[in-house]
Amino acid sequence: MMSFTKHLFLCLSAMLCTSVSAQIRFEDYFLEKTMRLDYYHAGNAQEEYFFFDEVIEEPYWAGNKHYLIEQRNVGNLMFFVKDKTTGTLLYSRGYCTLFTEWQATPEAQITSKAMPEGIVFPFPKHDVTVEIHTRNVATGKFQKKFSCDIDVNSYFIRKSRPHLPTMDIHYQGHPAQCVDIVLLSEGYTEEERDKFVQACHTFASDILSYEPYTEFKKHFNIRAVWLPSEESGVSIPGEHLWKKTALGARYYTFNSERYQMIEDYQLLLDAAAHVPYEIIYVLSNSQKYGGGGIYNFYGISAANIPGAATRKTYSHEFGHLFVGLADEYVGGTEMEGIYPPSTEPWEENITTLADFSSKKDWKQMLGDAPVPTPTKKTQWQLDPKNPDSPDYNPQKPWQVGVYEGGGYLPKGVYRPYPNCMMNWFHRIDIYCPVCQHAIKRTVELYIAPGNNAE
Ligand SMILES: [Zn+2]
Repeated sequence: MMSFTKHLFLCLSAMLCTSVSAQIRFEDYFLEKTMRLDYYHAGNAQEEYFFFDEVIEEPYWAGNKHYLIEQRNVGNLMFFVKDKTTGTLLYSRGYCTLFTEWQATPEAQITSKAMPEGIVFPFPKHDVTVEIHTRNVATGKFQKKFSCDIDVNSYFIRKSRPHLPTMDIHYQGHPAQCVDIVLLSEGYTEEERDKFVQACHTFASDILSYEPYTEFKKHFNIRAVWLPSEESGVSIPGEHLWKKTALGARYYTFNSERYQMIEDYQLLLDAAAHVPYEIIYVLSNSQKYGGGGIYNFYGISAANIPGAATRKTYSHEFGHLFVGLADEYVGGTEMEGIYPPSTEPWEENITTLADFSSKKDWKQMLGDAPVPTPTKKTQWQLDPKNPDSPDYNPQKPWQVGVYEGGGYLPKGVYRPYPNCMMNWFHRIDIYCPVCQHAIKRTVELYIAPGNNAE
């Protein structure tokens, strides 16, 4: 029924070029529900494997029917759904995973591990071949690493049965033409349901208070799924604190105290399937600063951090999750070698100058700023706690430039603005112009009315 084959060293670039012009009609190939392919992503710093797990049918499909083929060259992975008989490309998406990040840690040099993952796409009418390609860090090119055929009528396709309570937090319109966010509860006990609902409303007003999301407020749907946990709060291994929670979130991921993440992505997919969704964000019942966001995968952060940090963390992690924006700050991670100097990063808000001409939108915003853009303020840009660092002044905005320091590195990686929500955001509360532009372009893909009537 399902076969598993592994092919290496196939370049993706030609496929991307042809696919963009060939968006197919949704009704011809898909039904209005979701097919989910679960697999295990395994290996170490040098090797990478994908192992088939199972295929699941889920009840809703929230994606835009005119945005089937990926139009952004974003993400460390890309999956393709093709008609099995004709080979026609039907659907594709870029994404990133926690496993890929783990491969850049010192631990991956000395051990191998596996993480459960999954991909979702509209349920095909006819048998399909699904391929997963990964991007080579050194060359920036994609290689096919996994392929499997799916018999859409197989009785081994498990049907997911929704059973958890759901809530509409900010419902604006048909899912096909909105950005559909699902919020999941983590670390809230049965008695803390009201606290979670309150956190969901706060998330909605917080995230939609940032430009350019504010501009598109009417095109965001936000729903929530209620999963109570046995114990209140989340695990903090560095404090020997382990909690029994619904999704297993914990701080100290990759030994970084503030990196609160969840390793079992399939648990998140199980919960998210209770509503039509495109973007998964987990609200964790914690006051401890921390969270993470991975492009087209999931985001999570603490819902009760004192002061403005909860709101700012939402917008920072959402930038990673929704658009694939890079961190513009320096330091703060054990990950190594993720931005080689001779390779242009795919993220739209950093450059190594290996191929800055590919950052067309950013380049257009430069004005007369030289590349790289000199600055005497290196110290405060790299040290957010420096009391001399100025607050952003909307009356006197900074100039878009190419400022050295970003992508965790003080040298060799450049960012577009002195400070940004994607940087250490203590003295600023906006996305920089380059990030705002990338967000806007992404929203437009999700809400495109297309040529066919819905
Ligand atoms: Zn930015």
